[in-house]
Order: sequence, then structure tokens, then C-alpha cells
Amino acid sequence: MADILYTYKNSVYANITNKCNCSCTFCIRSLKDGVGSADTLWHEKNPSKEEIIDAIRSYDFTGFDELVFCGYGEPTCELDTLISAARIAKGEKFLKTRLNTNGLGNEENGHNIVPELAEVIDSVSISLNAPDASKYQEVTRPRYENGFDKMVDFALKCKEQIKDVKWSIVDVLPSEDIDKCKKLSEETGIELRIRHYT
Ligand code: SF4
Repeated sequence: MADILYTYKNSVYANITNKCNCSCTFCIRSLKDGVGSADTLWHEKNPSKEEIIDAIRSYDFTGFDELVFCGYGEPTCELDTLISAARIAKGEKFLKTRLNTNGLGNEENGHNIVPELAEVIDSVSISLNAPDASKYQEVTRPRYENGFDKMVDFALKCKEQIKDVKWSIVDVLPSEDIDKCKKLSEETGIELRIRHYT
């Protein structure tokens, strides 16, 4: 049975689902089964909302002040569970909450999910992955058409309602692509975090 909660570096992470609506060429899931304290993040069966809430309630968060929703899948593919779990993390465990997402949650759920997220999520990190629509399509291979535009629209909507919103890219991108991502960040006012590839 895969871990629902695991630690990596200085944070606790919630691995709420293995569902995903992308098939990224660089996805860590194709390289190894686990991350941090988790030997495997592959669920034999995706955990229920109740199992995830139980896991949060019974976890000793001593020394940690944040729960990050990020695992081997896209958290917004289980929106109801994500919202309920984040509400417990904030209301009962007094944690900050962060969502790491591919930014396609509005498309996945068929409506603008940002107002719901804004009630229980303190910060959002959105994978930008590429500087434009054609490169985005190539590397993330989303289930939806116009994925790049939809991801950008989600980021802008998040910025309206959530205080801490960032885009992230990995430093393996060619320098001209990184420059274009920086330009998009400046134009939109959404901070860009450039992560080192490990
Ligand atoms: S969105 Fe995340 S989990 Fe889904 S394929 Fe891409 S890297 Fe993997």
C-alpha cells in the first residue's frame, strides 16, 4: 500500500491520487516509484476521501507547518477530496496548505475551481513547463486541447484570489525558453520559480 502522507526535505506531502490528465515526457513516475520517505507512491487503489482525512488526522506534524498536495498524480483530479483534506489540515491541524498542480483543474472539473481552492489553499505552484503552446503540448501531452492557454488562464484566476501563486520550471530548459518564461512571468505578474533538476 502506498503512503498517503510522506516527507521530502522539510515538508509533508499528501499523495491523494494517481490520476492525471497529462502524460509529461519528464514525469518522475516513469523514473522511480517513490520520493522522500515513501518507498512507493503508487496506490494499489486510489485512497478514499475518508482514508485521506484519517491519515491527516492521525499524522504527527510536529516540526512541520505546511501540508503540500503533491504526489504521483494531479490533485485537482480529486477535487472534492482535495478541498475536504485541505480544510481538515487548516482547521484541525493549523497547517498552511500548498497545492502543486499542472493548472488544468478547471478543465478537468468543468468549471472554475479557484473560488473553492481559495477557501482552503494558501499557496499554489503551477507547472509552467514550457514557454509557449506548442512546446507545452509536446512536453506535457495534456488530455485537453489548448492546454497551455487553459493553464495560463487558471494561473491568472488563482492570482486574483490566492495570495501566493507561482509558476515553476526546471532549469533543464534551453536558456532562450527560460528567458521567454521569465517574460511571461513579468507580463502576468506571476512569480517564476526555477527549480534545479535533480
Ligand atoms: S502532470 Fe505531474 S503527475 Fe501528471 S504526467 Fe505531468 S509530471 Fe506526471
